[in-house]
Amino acid sequence: MRPRAVVAGGAGFIGFHFVSRLLDEGFDVVIVDNLATGTRRNVTELLAQNRCEFVEHDVCQPLGISGPVDYVINLACPASPADFSRIPVEIMRSCSEGTYNLLELALHKQAEFLHASTSEIYGDPEIHPQHEDYTGNVNIAGPRAVYDEGKRYAETLIHTYHRQFGIPVHIARIFNTYGPRMRPDDGRVISNFCVQALTGQPLTVYGDGRQTRCFCYVDDLVEGLFRLMTSEYAGPFNIGNSEEISVQQLAEKIIKLSGSSSQIEYQPLLHPDDPKRRQPALDRVKDALGFAPVTDLDTGIERTLEWFRQVIAHGRA
Ligand code: NAD
Ligand code: UDP
Repeated sequence: MRPRAVVAGGAGFIGFHFVSRLLDEGFDVVIVDNLATGTRRNVTELLAQNRCEFVEHDVCQPLGISGPVDYVINLACPASPADFSRIPVEIMRSCSEGTYNLLELALHKQAEFLHASTSEIYGDPEIHPQHEDYTGNVNIAGPRAVYDEGKRYAETLIHTYHRQFGIPVHIARIFNTYGPRMRPDDGRVISNFCVQALTGQPLTVYGDGRQTRCFCYVDDLVEGLFRLMTSEYAGPFNIGNSEEISVQQLAEKIIKLSGSSSQIEYQPLLHPDDPKRRQPALDRVKDALGFAPVTDLDTGIERTLEWFRQVIAHGRA
């Protein structure tokens, strides 16, 4: 019998790539998604491959899936900071009620549970780089907390299900990931900068641009997630790329790689508690899973620019 996975959030950016990988690995896949930030186009393309089903459903409501399920994978949550003030309650509910309903499904089916947590659980970190033992610095009253605290709650709930009911769980703390299939209007920095550069608009650097991030190409992330899911480890593990770059340098790089004549325009920070530095410590995931990213930033951005060129050419920007 082929293994069968339920992928909540499978219509989104990471979801598309992860479902593709599962199908390549011989899995049957059931995508569960309410299309809040995912696309029907992704679903249509995945359904065109055999062995994939789609259930349009909000994971905040209980869900029943007929037939055996070996893995429940929780990617279902809006992830762009632009959404933190647009749909804050929906984000908190996806993290809390959504994770609860998916854990109940895993318990009922005796399935393993893979969860997409985030570097945001470290908040605006006071230590650098961030290792998995760091408990974080989240401003619980700030606008980012809907996501940060939601994801922290989800991690605790997952550990609790593991301890109380013994279900096998795997938690990945994903650091900024980018690549083809990002939506042009997603609001995150790489999609914004690529679209702005390719359409001759100014690149909108928020704040002074000295804040840093480490960007992981999506194929590398998928490799890490797949290794974690098929391992015996609960984690949490950081999964990302440790190549650190400031937002200002990123803007300059994307202007250069796209051959754009766009200028840089400075705008206020979207949220006052925008993390100032972020970098994953990857020694633990490397030791346990042999995971290390292989795609450098220039290569990944070239591929992402190519995706956005096609999107713009087809009038979807
Ligand atoms: P995305 O917005 O493209 O994907 C999220 C998917 O979840 C979408 O298809 C959306 O429609 C679906 N969804 C949202 N709420 C739902 C609900 N209540 N019920 C059913 N479906 C719902 O974002 P992404 O970047 O692909 O992120 C996927 C997961 O990875 C998220 O959980 C996110 O928190 C996590 N993550 C992503 C990053 C990153 O850099 N991309 C970093 C850290 C964590
Ligand atoms: N950012 C920016 N311009 C944009 C979008 C984002 O300068 O058009 C900055 C943002 O303030 C943050 C960094 O880029 O410091 C990464 O933002 P993103 O929204 O991609 O993810 P985050 O790491 O904040 O979750």
